[in-house]
Amino acid sequence: MSNAELPKSVDPYRLAEQNTVLEGFVPLSAMARFNECISGFEEGGVCQVTLSFSMDGERRRIVVGKLSANVELQCQRCMGPKAATLVSEFRLGLVTSDAQAQQLPRDLEPYLTEGFNADLWAMVEDELLLVVPPFPLHERDQCPAREALEALEGTQASARPEAEPRENPFSVLADLKTKKH
Ligand SMILES: [Zn+2]
Repeated sequence: MSNAELPKSVDPYRLAEQNTVLEGFVPLSAMARFNECISGFEEGGVCQVTLSFSMDGERRRIVVGKLSANVELQCQRCMGPKAATLVSEFRLGLVTSDAQAQQLPRDLEPYLTEGFNADLWAMVEDELLLVVPPFPLHERDQCPAREALEALEGTQASARPEAEPRENPFSVLADLKTKKH
């Protein structure tokens, strides 16, 4: 853990040549795109990051990163807040063109830089966005909607097989979804 802000603008190629390891944080409040995908975070919340820059045997410039952030998501069952720790580990290959990106081995995610400059905060935000769960749910026994859910399941279990399918709320939802398309 570091209590220093991660530098924002760097020359990642030089850092790779020097085998630099950067450790620091990015304030969550600085990430507008990410903020649209979560319901909130504690005041002063940060994403802790470690970025290791290096060159491989083929002189490819590589960034191996690790991040973690405590955030609040919205449970899609009860619509209430759910605390979550988002973590990610990633391996990026720095490239300056699409042609270069296509030559990267599969275990490297291409990271396109403009010239010799990279915005590390944007890099961290991109990686955070990849690990936001699309459908967050409380653990079942901790979800305030549990009772309603169990009641619903109880009704279904005791329903007679010849019951009208329309009575099943899930099939109504499924109909709505089909109609949208
Ligand atoms: Zn819930």
